[in-house]
Amino acid sequence: MVEARDVHKRFGSNHVVRGVDMTVRSGEVMCLLGPSGSGKSTFLRCINHLEKINGGSIAVDGELVGYRRQNDRLYELRDHEIAQRRSEIGMVFQHFNLFPHMTVLENLIEAPVQVRREKTKDASERAIRLLERVGLADKAGAYPRSLSGGQQQRVAIARALNMRPKLMLFDEPTSALDPELVGEVLDVMRDLAADGMTMIVVTHEIGFAKEVADTVTFMDAGVVVETGPPAQVIDDPQRERTRSFLAKVL
Ligand code: ATP
Ligand code: MG
Repeated sequence: MVEARDVHKRFGSNHVVRGVDMTVRSGEVMCLLGPSGSGKSTFLRCINHLEKINGGSIAVDGELVGYRRQNDRLYELRDHEIAQRRSEIGMVFQHFNLFPHMTVLENLIEAPVQVRREKTKDASERAIRLLERVGLADKAGAYPRSLSGGQQQRVAIARALNMRPKLMLFDEPTSALDPELVGEVLDVMRDLAADGMTMIVVTHEIGFAKEVADTVTFMDAGVVVETGPPAQVIDDPQRERTRSFLAKVL
């Protein structure tokens, strides 16, 4: 589903992503760990066309990020094509970024109706089922400000899912939450993983990574230090940098 090869990203002279390779197969969960500033968010943003890479390539579901192939030639995507590709990938951030002036249900149907031109009825029916799935069926008419952080984040996940994405990207989805609210969000993500969603999750929740990830990748200073199944990377890290990081977060 995601094939990254020798990906580089610079901000001016700051070389933030320095040759990252990553493979995430369809239905797999990849947890991305690493210290602050190691380039995790930047790399995720590159997958979703929020940053343009300076070298290497990323393919999502066989399509090169940033390009379209036509008659065996590659053409740079135009803005509306980028918007189209981005709409196939769900992204959930640390801060939930819900539309404050819309109800929960309106938040969920906004993109399907406006971007996909779906009928309000179809998008709403799916939205209601998704809200049931994340345990918030009774909040359809509520405004985001009346919800707890954990509830808002579950709405943000349901909103992303209502676009029927082929890939979900999570960037520290529980980092801004009070500790007692973390579990309910991780439960939703666990359910999504069990349902076969392909997911890349930047997280410091090592317990979650151990339990749910098929692959754990540890990044530092823009490079992949170590990657493999959690039993290897978390329980038996081979590299000193991985060990010292885990010692700090565990
Ligand atoms: P954290 O765990 O703190 O979220 P991270 O691993 O997600 O860290 P990034 O946010 O990807 O790290 O940042 C990596 C580096 O890139 C940092 O030095 C940051 O200052 C720089 N950076 C990120 N975004 C930009 C930007 N839009 N313009 C300039 N520099 C940026
Ligand atoms: Mg980050």
